[in-house]
Amino acid sequence: MYWTEYRRAWLKRLSTVKEGDRLLDAGCGDAWVKNEFARYNEPIDYYGIDLAVGDENLSYKVTALADLHSLPFKDSSFDKVISNSVLEHVENPTEVFSEMVRVTRPGGRIFLSVPFAFALHQRPYDYHRFTRYILERYAHRNKLKIISLWNMGGFFTVLRYIFFNYTLLSLNDHPLWVGPFKIINFVTKLFDKTIGAPIVFLLDFLDRNKYLTLGYFVVYQKDGSLSGDLPEDPFRCPVCHQDSAEFEKSEIKFSCNSCHHDFPVKDKVPNLTLSDSFEPITEKISKD
Ligand SMILES: [Zn+2]
Repeated sequence: MYWTEYRRAWLKRLSTVKEGDRLLDAGCGDAWVKNEFARYNEPIDYYGIDLAVGDENLSYKVTALADLHSLPFKDSSFDKVISNSVLEHVENPTEVFSEMVRVTRPGGRIFLSVPFAFALHQRPYDYHRFTRYILERYAHRNKLKIISLWNMGGFFTVLRYIFFNYTLLSLNDHPLWVGPFKIINFVTKLFDKTIGAPIVFLLDFLDRNKYLTLGYFVVYQKDGSLSGDLPEDPFRCPVCHQDSAEFEKSEIKFSCNSCHHDFPVKDKVPNLTLSDSFEPITEKISKD
């Protein structure tokens, strides 16, 4: 299976969401997750946040612009938090993961996907690769239970990724290569879709260790019971962290009425779609 196919299978596991569950998509990009839930026709209370800087060609769709190192939400605000191939793009993944744990309610779940053997992407915002052992460390240091940890295939899937990856091949735009590339790409793609994919899928059963994999999917669960209500308004100022602070909105900025920090609206963000309802918009914030 390709990375996107693994992703789809992983998200199906998320279908354990109950109607009305509040879900945070941390690093939501074009809100792929939201669209996928719409496909399954599962109504969820969706919040998507992103800094919207990684990919110029992506149509970012966010509930709010926010830095994942300092989430603009109160503690225990979400039933589920999902982070799909995002931690490799943040400066401090450990810190971001702790923030995701903080905003997850007791008994709630965190769904994480991270790459291991994967090409550079969204350059230059590509900083890390992860092993299964750091994913286990995350569970240990945050007192989480690992519900499941999957490899995205093994040695043969990685081999397939290297040989048949359209994106990797197409990146090589040397003039002498462009012509032959079109032919090679057509043939390899045809082979991959018909014969290659099923063979690789079966061959991967031979690779028991899976020391090489495209990446990992993890489902964590936070200790505690799901009883009690979520805060009605989950937003919180990411600077002063006052649960009682409110935001005042104008055409060009949001202002926190407690610390008086201003957050610009749509500053230097391409292709940004904001929902109509009232939300704080945050710029990149460095923690002192
Ligand atoms: Zn504030």
